[in-house]
Amino acid sequence: MTTITRLEVKDIRFPTSRSLDGSDAMNAAPDYSATYVILHTDSELEGHGLTFTIGRGNEICVAAVKSLASRVEGRPLAALTENMGGFWRHITGGDSQLRWLGPDKGVIHLATAAIVNAVWDLWAKHEGKPVWKLLVDMSPEALVRCLDFRFVSDALTPEEALALLRRQASGKAEREHEMRQQGYPAYTTSAGWLGYSDDKLRHLAREALAEGWTHFKQKVGGDLDEDCRRARILREEIGWERPLMMDANQVWDVDEAIVNMRRLAEFAPLWIEEPTSPDDILGHAEIRRRLAPIGVASGEHCHNRVMFKQFLQAGALDYCQVDAARLGGLNEVILVVLLAAKYGVPVCPHAGGVGLCEYVQHVSLFDYIAVSGSLEGRVLEYVDHLHEHFVDPVVIRHGRYQVPSAPGYSITMRADSLTRHQYPEGAAWRQNV
Ligand SMILES: [Mg+2]
Repeated sequence: MTTITRLEVKDIRFPTSRSLDGSDAMNAAPDYSATYVILHTDSELEGHGLTFTIGRGNEICVAAVKSLASRVEGRPLAALTENMGGFWRHITGGDSQLRWLGPDKGVIHLATAAIVNAVWDLWAKHEGKPVWKLLVDMSPEALVRCLDFRFVSDALTPEEALALLRRQASGKAEREHEMRQQGYPAYTTSAGWLGYSDDKLRHLAREALAEGWTHFKQKVGGDLDEDCRRARILREEIGWERPLMMDANQVWDVDEAIVNMRRLAEFAPLWIEEPTSPDDILGHAEIRRRLAPIGVASGEHCHNRVMFKQFLQAGALDYCQVDAARLGGLNEVILVVLLAAKYGVPVCPHAGGVGLCEYVQHVSLFDYIAVSGSLEGRVLEYVDHLHEHFVDPVVIRHGRYQVPSAPGYSITMRADSLTRHQYPEGAAWRQNV
């Protein structure tokens, strides 16, 4: 029996702001960071998990993880995995004083994600399977036991979740085989950061085309003329047959989003992502109604299942961009994948950041193999940053994620990378002082 003996948490930061990697209309100069959790056990196994931040404030997340550590320290792994739904209720709501800091949102929920995902990593390593495979091999009943339907049962009951999972059960083996052969379709955001020069934009678009990418995303929301000019450059490079997506990272008011996108409509975007405040459910619905056929995508800042429920109920989304670490870990992500399936909205997870691509490949594989059974409207984000720091990084071939095979959630970072990027004492930061 494996028991979690100790939770270790690290403040890991990468100085990405020096090259403007990851720059967009709202986030001008991020230092991609991770609140990084290691669950030590009484065996050789370790569970690793992280939550993503963009620099300053990561220390607050680290402090929140420390406050939650007693939820897992001293617990046998089996006691958690036998009732994952109960464990999730316990870590998010079991301490009413800590729950006050959320509930189910903000720093405390980000911290929850790092710990919950580390438990999934540990469980999958214990079973000798990658997380996606652990999920698709579960019976519908076992999977539903991992979920907490509190506050969403008006939209999705456990019985409906079971029915959704049973509906696709017979084709799972075939789809798993297909994924192992072909990989999961992806799009690239790497060419379109706001802070890049025209030459760099053109060069990166050409490079991405040569690598076999078929879907591209551009950051917008700066100066509108500039956005148009950059869209023109991208269309010149990628042509008009390949989908181009746009991402405003929340900078516009509702009417502003509609006016600006009517101009950018000239470049035939597939979707506009985060056109306004991520909390404005009815605003997204209004934008969607008035901009159709341009789709509305959102979710990377949607902080819990209750928000997603309302986005779906309000008809506010064409694409559900669930985030693996914004929600309280994989349990809540699975619930949102099932909610989206019920409402017929494709899940296109948010990635990029650090470690998010590593996480969400498991989510999309699970979605396709066990829940939706369809790739229609589904394309998984990919950003070519920081993968070299992971022991089992994502593998992309011809614009598709290749199926991960190593046990766990693919999120374990290399020991030398952790040492070098520990903030503020690691070598990556000392050199810059
Ligand atoms: Mg985005």
